[in-house]
Amino acid sequence: MIIEEKIQQKAYELGIHKCGIIKPEAMLDYADRLQERIDHIPNLEMPYKKFLLFSDVKKNIPWAKSIIVLVSHYGHYRVPKESITEHYGKYYLVDSRFNQDSPERQKIFELENYVHDLGIKTAWNEHPGITAMRWAAYKAGLGIIRRNNFFYTEKGSWVTITALAADREMERIEKPSLSECSDTCNKCITACPTKSLSAPYVMNMTTCVSPITTSNDKTSFDDETNRCLGKSVYGCDVCQNVCPQNANKWENKDTFPGLMELAKHLSPEAILTLNYEEIEKQLSQKFFYIKKESLWRWKTNAINAMVNDYREDYGNHIRNALEDEFEMVREKAQWALQKLGQ
Ligand code: SF4
Ligand code: SF4
Repeated sequence: MIIEEKIQQKAYELGIHKCGIIKPEAMLDYADRLQERIDHIPNLEMPYKKFLLFSDVKKNIPWAKSIIVLVSHYGHYRVPKESITEHYGKYYLVDSRFNQDSPERQKIFELENYVHDLGIKTAWNEHPGITAMRWAAYKAGLGIIRRNNFFYTEKGSWVTITALAADREMERIEKPSLSECSDTCNKCITACPTKSLSAPYVMNMTTCVSPITTSNDKTSFDDETNRCLGKSVYGCDVCQNVCPQNANKWENKDTFPGLMELAKHLSPEAILTLNYEEIEKQLSQKFFYIKKESLWRWKTNAINAMVNDYREDYGNHIRNALEDEFEMVREKAQWALQKLGQ
C-alpha cells in the first residue's frame, strides 16, 4: 500500500470524515480567488491582505512538501434547545479547537502520531491554521464550496477542516460527487441579515454577524447594524440554516463534552448575571475569539439580543448593567433602555 493510502485508511479507521493530500503549490491560486473578492468589495483589501500568506504555505513552512487535509463532521452532536442555539453559531458550541476533551481533536492528534510513526514530520496549528482550509479541502476533492462560501460534503456544511504540512512528497485527490448550487437558488443571499453575503461567493467579512459579534474592538455599531444582528450573541448560522443542501443534515445525536452543562450560562439573561471572572472561567476557553481583555463584548451582545427580542423580564437585567464596571456595557444598557422607552 502506498503511503498516501495508509494515511487515508488510518484517518477513516479513526472516524475522520474525509482525508486527502495536496501539494503546497495547489494552494497558490487561492491568491487569485482572494483578489476576485477584493475586486468585488474594494474596502476588503486591508482585512483580506493577511490571508494572502495562506496561498504560499512554503513561506512559513519552507520544508513543506505536501498538505494533509482532514475534514471532521460536527453535525452529529446534540445541541442545547433552540432558545439557546438561536444566539450562537453551532460550530462554536462544539468547536474542537484547543478543547482537549473534543473527540474530533483527539482523532487529529492520533492521526498525526501515526504519520510521525511513518517517519514524516508535520506542522499545523489550531487557529488560524497553516492555509485556507476550505480551498485546501476543495483542492483535495473532499467536497465543494457553495454560493454561501461554506465548504460542503454529503453531510452538508456542518464540517470543520484541519490541514497538516508534511515533509514528504505525497498527493491523494478525491472526486466529490456533489452537484453544484442551482443557478436559481439565492436563499442564502436573501436570508443574510446584514447583506454581508451580497452575491454568490461574495461576502464582506466586515459586515458579517460572526466577526461583528466576536469583535475585540471598542466599537459600538449603528442602530441598523444592531437591529440586523437580531438575536445573535456569538456567530451566525443563517446562510447555512436556510440552505436546502443542509436540510435534515444536523443529526443531533451525540453528546459533546461539557456542552449541556455549559448551556445554563449561554442565554442572554444568564450572561448578564455572570461576573467577569465567571465569564472568563465558563466562556473564554471555548469561545476564544472574544479575548480576555474584551469580555465586556459578551454583555453588549447579550443586551443587543435582548433589545431585538424583548421580554419583560429582561428589563431588570438591562437596568443592572447600568452599574457594570465597563463603560461599553453601561453605554449599551443606556442605549437599550432608551430604545425600549424605559
Ligand atoms: S454568517 Fe450570517 S451574516 Fe455572515 S454571511 Fe452568513 S448569514 Fe450573512
Ligand atoms: S442556499 Fe442555495 S445558493 Fe445558497 S449555498 Fe445553499 S444551495 Fe447554494
